[in-house]
Order: sequence, then structure tokens, then C-alpha cells
Amino acid sequence: MSKTKEIEQIILPPPVHMVGNGFRVHTFFPGNIFGEQRMSPFYLLDYNAKYYFPPSETPRGVGVHPHRGFETVTVAYKGRIAHHDSAGNSGIIGEGDVQWMTAGSGVLHKEYHEKSFSRTGGVFQMAQLWVNLPAKFKMAQPKYQPLMHKNMGKYFLPDGKGTVNVISGNFKNIKGPASTFTPIHLFDIRMNTGAKLNLTLPSDFNTGLLIIDGKLDVNGQEAKEDEFVLFKNNGTDFHLEAAMESIVLLMSGKPIDEPIAQFGPFLMNHRRELEKAVDDFNNGKFGYLED
Ligand code: MN
Repeated sequence: MSKTKEIEQIILPPPVHMVGNGFRVHTFFPGNIFGEQRMSPFYLLDYNAKYYFPPSETPRGVGVHPHRGFETVTVAYKGRIAHHDSAGNSGIIGEGDVQWMTAGSGVLHKEYHEKSFSRTGGVFQMAQLWVNLPAKFKMAQPKYQPLMHKNMGKYFLPDGKGTVNVISGNFKNIKGPASTFTPIHLFDIRMNTGAKLNLTLPSDFNTGLLIIDGKLDVNGQEAKEDEFVLFKNNGTDFHLEAAMESIVLLMSGKPIDEPIAQFGPFLMNHRRELEKAVDDFNNGKFGYLED
């Protein structure tokens, strides 16, 4: 029997801060009204709302830095982002594309506006999630999954009213291309004015919507661009109706029931593992990447 997944809170974007000089982000969580575990397995959500970056010959972004113990998942909505890491992977993503990087045992990477986008300047919009890994996968081999918009699982709404692009997990038996270590549904939902959509997700999965564009009715409440809809863990079903052309990033995942220890770019279970990460980084064990 189905039961409504009620809204816990609709959250306005917190104040912006810069990550490097290329990402002007609202950090929805952790912090704000969230604890570190509220959206587990999602640890962090940085959201660069639509922002115009003027032309620059030197690409803006964030230089070489390490990660260990989790995955960074970057979803591009406007503009293009280039990635390079010490495992030898690189890629460029544009509108509707996703890069899913497993830092695992450790990588160095850098994230910049792509060169030609930087040269012309333009509106930039993207979201980055930090997806935690359970203890047994924290030291997994680093991996990079470039997930292009055209390769997403596609569920088409009736009458051409929109598309659910399935990045990971599944929607109505349509699977996303991303491989994940724990169960995660990540959907890029595009709805035309008046489109309706019913969703069913497990009640124990932490679930939220980031409204990327437009305005929707979510279970009878209005949610609009740049807001985050946090659901309670009390039911399975909710309903979307687009008041205008809208884009929604839906995230829903099975919580990882383990302690968290975090320091800067490292996300482990215990403090001693953070000390080891810092030592390993200082001893060059994360490899090498040119600036
Ligand atoms: Mn990073």
C-alpha cells in the first residue's frame, strides 16, 4: 500500500561562497538545517545557481587538490566543465552531462571551466554532490564515469510533456548508466508547463529535490528555482506538477549507517583514518597531477 512522502521543509539557498574562483556555490548541506547524516549517502551539496561569468583567457576553477573516501558527482546545467585527475582520467561535460568520480583510496584532481566556454564567458550553472562510501569501499580503486546526456536512461512523459533522465538507479524499470556502490536514484527531470509526474521511492531512502529551473507544485506546495525540497522518511509517494517549464534534480539514496569523520577533502569513518589520509597525501601517495 502506498503512503505519501510528506515534505519536511522547503529550503532557500544559503549564502554563496566561492570554491576556487570558478564555482560560486550555495552549500545546502552539510550545515544549514542539515546534520552530516541527514541526507546520507549524500554528504555535501554545492549548487552554483545561474551566474554570468565574463570572458577570461585563464579558465576559472579550482586547482589540484586531493579527495579520499567518497565520490564527487558533478551535474552540469549551463556552461562546460573540464576535469583532470591523477588516475589519468579527464573529460569535459556540458549541459545535461554528469561526471561521476570515485576518489576511493585517493586521487588528485582539478576542476575548471572548459577553455572555449571560459574564453567566450557565459551563464554557468551546476551542482556537485559528495556521495559517501561505506567503510568497505572507502579505499576502492579510483574510477571516472563520464555520463553523457544522450546516454541517460530516458522515461518520456505522455504527450511529449517531458523526460526523466535516469542518471543512476531506475525509474519505472528504466535504468541509469552510472554504477554506484550503494543504492542511489539520481534523476534529471525535465517537465513542460502543466506536466504531471508521480514518483515512488523507498520510505527509508533520504530524498530531496533541487529545483534547477522553473516552478512546480510538490504535494500541493510551491517550490521554485534554487530551492531544495527535503522529504520526511515516512512514505513512498509524491507528486510533481510543473507550473512552467521546469528542471529538477532528484536525489534519493539508502543511508549509510556508519560514523563519519571529515577533514577538508577527506571523508572517512574515524579520526585516525583522516590522519593517515593527510600523511599519505604529504608523502605523495595520491600520485601526481600537473597544475
Ligand atoms: Mn574536488
